[in-house]
Amino acid sequence: MSNVGKKDYYEILGVPRNATKEEIKRAYRRLALQYHPDRNKSPDAEEKFKEISEAYAVLSDDEKRRIYDMYGHEGLSGAYTHEDIFRTSTFDFDEIFRDLGFDLDSIFERFFGVRRGPPKGRDVIMNLEITLEEAFNGAEKLVSVPVSEVCSACGGSGAAPGGLKVCRACGGTGQKVDRRQTPFGFFTSVTTCPACGGSGKFIEKKCPTCKGSGYVSTVKNISVRVPRGADDDLVLRVPGMGERYSGGQPGDLLLVVKLKPHKVFTRKGDDLYMDLPVSVSELVLGTKVTVPTLDGKVDVSIPGGTPPGHIITIKGRGMPSMKGGRGDLRIRLKVVMPKKLSHEHKRLYEQLYSLERYLVEEERRALRD
Ligand SMILES: [Zn+2]
Ligand SMILES: [Zn+2]
Repeated sequence: MSNVGKKDYYEILGVPRNATKEEIKRAYRRLALQYHPDRNKSPDAEEKFKEISEAYAVLSDDEKRRIYDMYGHEGLSGAYTHEDIFRTSTFDFDEIFRDLGFDLDSIFERFFGVRRGPPKGRDVIMNLEITLEEAFNGAEKLVSVPVSEVCSACGGSGAAPGGLKVCRACGGTGQKVDRRQTPFGFFTSVTTCPACGGSGKFIEKKCPTCKGSGYVSTVKNISVRVPRGADDDLVLRVPGMGERYSGGQPGDLLLVVKLKPHKVFTRKGDDLYMDLPVSVSELVLGTKVTVPTLDGKVDVSIPGGTPPGHIITIKGRGMPSMKGGRGDLRIRLKVVMPKKLSHEHKRLYEQLYSLERYLVEEERRALRD
């Protein structure tokens, strides 16, 4: 699903970015009543209803809202499939739709395409380490993922050749039928056969390759695109690379981005911080220094009289944001003190000392007054 031109969730619900959960819920209830296609017969009501429901599914959930606030639509579609956005928010929807008098089951199937079939395999979560440069430029990363595949020796049955037999407990029907005499007559109950789990078969001799599980573990190398601006805890979803069980769809692989430390830059949000070593005389007299950035060098002017620890901000030279735009580069001036003074160096400082006495005397007098 493309995120280009997708509307802001807060705007869709008409709430401010700092809205409380209660305000968000109220806004959604009001709009859901207005746009539910069973009540509103205008042609775009269904689209509008889906839109407000998606916005609510995200903003009513702390984790999804946090990801959306940090990374916008792109970050969210990395962390969740469209289906999961709704699936994992059913509780609150349940309550709202019941209150509004709608049938919940039909709503999910009809509007959001959420299936209620056999359970999906579990998602597998792995960390993905990237460098700051990779986060800056975007990258294509090769990842080795342990996956389970259907065993080719037994075709997934888990049985050795000729080792699959009809279940003796149920005679192959997969059902257990109980017939009991009660004071009201015969009572028959049908349940799943506990011996074979309903398959009607049992494994007499296990497949030696997969030891009866029907699956073998292998390692797959897959290529994953890391978007420009990716930051710690961004989740990249690779559909179908999670655990698989017979019957249901495989789960997904969730790669959690972890930034490696960089030798020059520290990242805070979309801003980059760096320390620039300067001497006392450079701060006093002023100077020009060329500093590295992640995309070329930049000349920095330090005016005379700049205090130590001062931060110079270079607008727009920080990290690209996944929401568009770029952060700033913030250069902290770090004074390097001379440790061993030559005779000449010391003589000059002694001269400076007598020249600068008036400075500190004035300031110290102010402390006493
Ligand atoms: Zn096998
Ligand atoms: Zn059976």
